[in-house]
Amino acid sequence: MKISVDQSKCCGSGMCVLTDPDLFDQNEEDGTVVLLQEHPDAEHEATAKEAASLCPAGAITVS
Ligand code: SF4
Repeated sequence: MKISVDQSKCCGSGMCVLTDPDLFDQNEEDGTVVLLQEHPDAEHEATAKEAASLCPAGAITVS
């Protein structure tokens, strides 16, 4: 599994951080997403996909 984020799309809603704070954080200055794990363990697969589906900006891709 690989997670990608597009910070140019991110609107800083924070949904991803609420969904899995082990995978995502937010920039302290502008609130944009900070990806903490590009290749997380399989145990995070469900929440990674959930974060991608919940992101209002479509900024998260899980492949
Ligand atoms: S849920 Fe999407 S728009 Fe919101 S902070 Fe995360 S990546 Fe950015």
